[in-house]
Amino acid sequence: MSEVFVQTDEQRLILETVRKFVAEAVTPVAAELDRQLDPDDCFSWEIVDQTDRVGIRTMTLSEDWGGMGADSLTTAMVIEEIAKGDMGVAVVMAQTLKLAQIFQKAMTAGQREKYLPRFRDDPRCLLAIGITEPETGSNYFIPNSASFQTRAERGAGGWFINGMKHFISNGNRAGLYLIFAQTEKGESLFDGATCFLLEREAPGFSIGRVHDKMGERLANNAELIFENCFVADENVVGEVGRGFQVLVDFFPQSNAYAAATVLGVSVAAFERAVEWAKTRNQGGSLLIDYDGIRAQLAEMRMLNDAARSYIHRAAWSADHQDQGWDRTLGVLPKVFATQAAWKIVTWASEIHGGSGYMRDIGLEKLVRDVAGFLHSDGVNRTLLLKAASLMF
Ligand SMILES: Cc1cc2nc3c(=O)[nH]c(=O)nc-3n(C[C@H](O)[C@H](O)[C@H](O)COP(=O)(O)OP(=O)(O)OC[C@H]3O[C@@H](n4cnc5c(N)ncnc54)[C@H](O)[C@@H]3O)c2cc1C
Repeated sequence: MSEVFVQTDEQRLILETVRKFVAEAVTPVAAELDRQLDPDDCFSWEIVDQTDRVGIRTMTLSEDWGGMGADSLTTAMVIEEIAKGDMGVAVVMAQTLKLAQIFQKAMTAGQREKYLPRFRDDPRCLLAIGITEPETGSNYFIPNSASFQTRAERGAGGWFINGMKHFISNGNRAGLYLIFAQTEKGESLFDGATCFLLEREAPGFSIGRVHDKMGERLANNAELIFENCFVADENVVGEVGRGFQVLVDFFPQSNAYAAATVLGVSVAAFERAVEWAKTRNQGGSLLIDYDGIRAQLAEMRMLNDAARSYIHRAAWSADHQDQGWDRTLGVLPKVFATQAAWKIVTWASEIHGGSGYMRDIGLEKLVRDVAGFLHSDGVNRTLLLKAASLMF
């Protein structure tokens, strides 16, 4: 088991493989895919196939289930590395890697026997989680009395779900989903929602719109529609009415993964800013020789390093909760990493001057990509409020 601030030989090897995958399969196509007008066309199955071939897609499965048994710290490192190449690809993988972790912990033995081989053996099986609805977004982060509008009612042998989810990452691409629906009338969603494991082929389940996003375009987000969608009793994850406990118990590293995604883009922006400053000559000197630019680059480096330390501590602590887990670690790293990244991408853009605004340079893509995480995985303000509710 690795320590927080020391990379093990195994982690170095894994990261080398990931770097090679990014250089060969992601970097050459990312800008072109990002430019496609139809959001469906921005997604690449070829990239997913490659993640499967090199072992990334299944790396959080334990060795017993045919994976590498990667811990949360290693997974956060991998997500950062992928995001240096493209944020959308990092999101596609982060969702899949974290849900594979939850599946192993939260599922019954019967569910594991049925679904883990399906996930492992289908190279295109991605995973998704559907919580957000048009009228229920920040509501599920901060204690309040709201309930989900997507409801599940008991029928013969299982549950019938009606309603819809939106903004769901991998929504139109996943093979398996975790879906949250209200099962207890009159209760808040915290006390009355149930978590269901849904197969893509479930009767009454369909995909709605694929959202046309500003950035993070290599990942698809979509609406999920439930019309008397049948889910068998055996597919309840955790206890009926206690769906949120599944997230509390088995999802502590999720926020660190979101933060690692943003950090990867931020590091890419920093590296481009350094490169630009070293080659752009104005007023008789390279930009890198001006004190204002030098100080700004040092601040960018500091913010990225601080974000990484926070992320690594949170990811490591999520797996070692007996050694000082604090629930704010499951909420705040993404806020810090995005605030830092937002500064860094805009400063990197400024250092590029007018060129930073031009599409062919590629910096504007990083600005659009980072913007997604001001909202994704919880709006930053909402997460700060949630942290406060855990603190006081
Ligand atoms: C790229 C992307 C990917 C996503 N992927 C997924 C996914 O895979 N699965 C999923 O379930 N969801 C996903 N989401 C949804 C995401 O979690 C929600 O968008 C987010 O929680 C905010 O909800 P909302 O959009 O409804 O905003 P709202 O809740 O309407 O918030 C709007 C504003 O009001 C503020 N606000 C809300 N409540 C309060 C309050 N009590 N006090 C003060 N201010 C408040 C918020 O901070 C925000 O600034 C994704 C979103 C994006 C953008």
